[in-house]
Amino acid sequence: MTTQILTILGSTGSIGASTLDVVARHPDKFRVFALAGHKQVEKLAAQCVQFAPEYAVAADGGYAAKLQNLLQAKGCKTQVLHGAQALIDVASDEQVSGVMCAIVGAAGLPSALAAAQKGKTIYLANKETLVVSGALFMETAKANGATVLPIDSEHNAIFQVLPRDYQGRLNEHGIQSIILTASGGPFLETDLAAFDSITPAQAVKHPNWSMGQKISVDSASMMNKGLELIEAHWLFNCPPDKLEVVIHPQSVIHSMVRYLDGSVLAQMGNPDMRTPIAYCLGLPERIESGVSALDFGSLSALTFKEPDSNRFPCLKLAYDAMRAGGAAPCVLNAANEIAVAAFLDGKIRFTDIAKVVADCLVHNVSDGLCDIESLLAQDAYTRIQAQECIDRLK
Ligand code: NAD
Ligand code: MG
Repeated sequence: MTTQILTILGSTGSIGASTLDVVARHPDKFRVFALAGHKQVEKLAAQCVQFAPEYAVAADGGYAAKLQNLLQAKGCKTQVLHGAQALIDVASDEQVSGVMCAIVGAAGLPSALAAAQKGKTIYLANKETLVVSGALFMETAKANGATVLPIDSEHNAIFQVLPRDYQGRLNEHGIQSIILTASGGPFLETDLAAFDSITPAQAVKHPNWSMGQKISVDSASMMNKGLELIEAHWLFNCPPDKLEVVIHPQSVIHSMVRYLDGSVLAQMGNPDMRTPIAYCLGLPERIESGVSALDFGSLSALTFKEPDSNRFPCLKLAYDAMRAGGAAPCVLNAANEIAVAAFLDGKIRFTDIAKVVADCLVHNVSDGLCDIESLLAQDAYTRIQAQECIDRLK
């Protein structure tokens, strides 16, 4: 394996930190070219000291100045950049072979698209990119010879159990369906009458995974699984009616593929994102990830159940948006981002998240959008509409 030169976007987040943990185990295989950490400049400075990248990207001039001071104090030579264009620049630089896209939300889209345009190997954690601009992103990657490798644990599991030569044609390989497993989050058994009083602290406390706040709330509402359906639709060219969701509260099976002959292939492991990250970074080799071995002796039963759309209306909204296509998934995502932020801020109830998303989907979907400008315009428009809906709910 030749040394990979990496840009890690969202390095200070949960996926970013797990990525650097894997990278640090293999100094012979990886070199860090750039780290982007937005507003978390202290964490970013410590990462720069450890990994000595050429560039570090902060949110804006103010954060860049703070980062610069921190780096100077440590004698670190990393150059500081800032802003959205800098994210694109460090994702596109010709020295870079692979880009870890681990920014949260639609903010991660332009840099991921830039990496696709430059034919990079894209380690895609940012599922919002595929939800907002699935067709455009996949076409851009294909046209420019970029490789898109799924970091999201479900999609990584599916990727591992699909045939090696899978090219997006289910029938040719005797594939009947793709099955996404879902933990069901912290409120799988909560009395429905108590849903209105769910607090942000309860919602971000995922039973199995340690993740950023936004995706943790998405997991609690099961919007995360909805976004992942759309993600799987684009990644694997899988029609909506060939995508299944099954609740599996232990998060040991990370997803499955159902074949025509009755076989179901699953990928298992402890719930730790370093496994999918190491799988993608190491390809075609398997490399050490730091994840402890799955201990069957201490596993409880593996159980499964159907998702309940009364409990999880966001999952149904996402299914509907996927089927509607066009701009609907972009609206779904933008409305959800605004609603989740308002919920975390104590401005709306947990149950209002689905109301805001539903309201935006009914009123604000324009016709088939395909270019980045119109998608971003739709995204911006929906954010305003979602905010207005939140103001009405308050
Ligand atoms: P996080 O909140 O822990 O980290 C987000 C990162 O993005 C941070 O580095 C933050 O500084 C940066 N960031 C935030 N806003 C930004 C902006 N406007 N511009 C530039 N950078 C910005 O989130 P996470 O849990 O690491 O998730 C990152 C992405 O990976 C999300 O899209 C999430 O859905 C996906 N993902 C995460 C997990 C997980 O286990 N955490 C699993 C699967 C997929
Ligand atoms: Mg996932």
